[in-house]
Amino acid sequence: MKILVPVKRVIDYNVKPRVKADGTGVDLANVKMSMNPFDEIAVEEAIRLKEKGAATEIVAVSIGPAKAQETLRTALAMGADRAILVETEEEVEPLAVAKILKAIADEEQPGLVILGKQSISDDSNQTGQMLAALMGRPQGTFANTVEVEGDSVTVKREVDGGLQTVKLALPAIVTTDLRLNEPRYASLPNIMKAKSKPLATKTAADYGVDLAPRLKTLKVAEPAVRQAGVKVADVAELVGKLKTLGIA
Ligand code: AMP
Repeated sequence: MKILVPVKRVIDYNVKPRVKADGTGVDLANVKMSMNPFDEIAVEEAIRLKEKGAATEIVAVSIGPAKAQETLRTALAMGADRAILVETEEEVEPLAVAKILKAIADEEQPGLVILGKQSISDDSNQTGQMLAALMGRPQGTFANTVEVEGDSVTVKREVDGGLQTVKLALPAIVTTDLRLNEPRYASLPNIMKAKSKPLATKTAADYGVDLAPRLKTLKVAEPAVRQAGVKVADVAELVGKLKTLGIA
């Protein structure tokens, strides 16, 4: 079984994003970029399934600028077998990403597509669900555990207040949650080996997908600065304050 793992290049999770002065978006100039953390978890899960013998090949895909090659090389250094970069300098919305992934899945025929549950750049949490709908395949989102057995995959999903277990017929779409696994670091020899693994470069037009945005960003703003709190002397004063605020 082949596993397709879409990986997105995003601002590194340690970096505090800055909004551009004109409020049109987030400033990406000279900012450290990395693989979306949930996608690292997806790559790790695919590698573990391969190590267990449930998968034979892992194909990493990224839709983004030429620099997304670095993100794909990271996936290859972790253990993916080959990579596909669909190159575009435009910001790509989840629907367009899902359409490109569907076209790649039609070509590659993976048994599983493992995506992150959301990208920390746009927090959409849409691509996996849209891909499942476009492919007409079952989806196991927010995966905490993934077990492949024969022609099905059992996914324990993180839902409010606990875990829900679903069994999906393969081919299926899985999206990763934080507790699914702890991604490995690529070793230096594997980083060197990854340089010679195959990386194909394509365009959206190769897959017949129109990247024109369907959404218009009206404004991007910093979150409001939090006001300093006040210390109360005792519970009675706290309850009194809550009452005046209409909370208690
Ligand atoms: P989102 O719906 O944008 O929150 O993204 C959910 C997941 O879809 C991500 O964790 C990735 O696995 C995948 N994805 C989204 N955008 C891209 C992209 N441009 N290239 C590759 N994978 C992507």
